[in-house]
Amino acid sequence: MNHFQYKDKDLYCEDVPVAQIAAKLGTPLFVYSHATLTRHYQAFDKAFGNVDHIICYSAKANTNGAILKLFANMGSGLDVVSGGELHRGLAAGIPANKIAYAGVGKTQNEIDLAINSGILMFNVESFEELQAINARAKALGKKAPISLRVNPNVDAKTHPYISTGMKKNKFGIAKEAVLEAYKAANALEATDVVGIDFHIGSQITQVGPFVEAMESVKALASDLRDLGINVKYLDVGGGLGINYKDEAPPEPDEYAKAICKVIADFPITVVLEPGRAMVGNAGIMVTKVLYLKEGTTKNFIIVDAGMNDLVRPSIYDAYHLIQPVNMREGNPITGDVVGPICESTDFLAKDREIGAVTSGDFLAVMSSGAYGFAMSSNYNSRPRACEVMVKGQAFEVIRARETYEDLTRGENIPTFL
Ligand SMILES: *Cc1c(COP(=O)(O)O)cnc(C)c1O
Repeated sequence: MNHFQYKDKDLYCEDVPVAQIAAKLGTPLFVYSHATLTRHYQAFDKAFGNVDHIICYSAKANTNGAILKLFANMGSGLDVVSGGELHRGLAAGIPANKIAYAGVGKTQNEIDLAINSGILMFNVESFEELQAINARAKALGKKAPISLRVNPNVDAKTHPYISTGMKKNKFGIAKEAVLEAYKAANALEATDVVGIDFHIGSQITQVGPFVEAMESVKALASDLRDLGINVKYLDVGGGLGINYKDEAPPEPDEYAKAICKVIADFPITVVLEPGRAMVGNAGIMVTKVLYLKEGTTKNFIIVDAGMNDLVRPSIYDAYHLIQPVNMREGNPITGDVVGPICESTDFLAKDREIGAVTSGDFLAVMSSGAYGFAMSSNYNSRPRACEVMVKGQAFEVIRARETYEDLTRGENIPTFL
């Protein structure tokens, strides 16, 4: 069931009219559906059924503490890519032993925090990083559980900016070099080799690339077994796509079947790191039309949300469906939906038919729950948006709109000025 639906002419999130939330809290505004978030977690959990698995929700897609808490309550682990995300996850009640830590540039402080917290495993992305983790574990008198992130050289058939598993990408250790890296890791005294990891990209809309990566990694796991290295975890990363327009990506069920088939005869715990698929369609961004402007060659619908609030259209040329929160009679307008920021890349949609709108109307930018607020910034000194969670007829702010005071917090005027 879709929890963002029109009742008559008005868009609802669950049982609350979106316009009611926007009128109360202002715009731009992110609205998340509790029921959708819950359903997405359960869909992944159920899809893997009896296969041993840990769902490590990928924090970077949406790092709000309330969303982390909701997933924590359902038993989720977390995939983190920084000390900050690790800190947030622990604060939200995610057990440390369900946290996987990836990223090519882990610092010494971050490594120490992760070792001292007792995380599930580091997903190690280079030989030097492996040495660094070993050195820190030794210094701290602990053993660091590690998995090596393999770059399987698989084309995820997605936007090049969100593809991560090809030779030219900075992520992971090349398939050809990984066996040697495992031998080295196994010989280190303060690391414990527990898994294999890959993450080939994001917004992947077919199962083929996942299966291809799985097969490559399964062969590696057998080779490791021959060397006497028995890994417990196979971390299949995230990357499952969602429907923004007409993509029709596989459902978690089909994805799980394809993955489990490859490892049917292989006793191993699957670690999943879904991000976008968990939160993307669970959130919308609401913005207000400020002005309609007729240019000489096209129309502009100028709204109060900019690329600082939702940057995906600007940097990935991403498509988000935009619809009026309250449908009205009249001629539909076609034009560019643009924000107030002083950049030509500040657009939410180009040459789009938006329905009949006038200034003062609210628009819903659909599927904005993933990489929306999380990638927002204060560019042009714009306070970041408010975030709200809806559950049934109730809604609560989960992040207050920033104030002008927030903008200058931490700044200091030097005494020599
Ligand atoms: C970003 C990321 C994910 C989540 O990717 P989605 O496409 O949002 O599912 C998972 N694992 C790692 C290592 C990542 O960097």
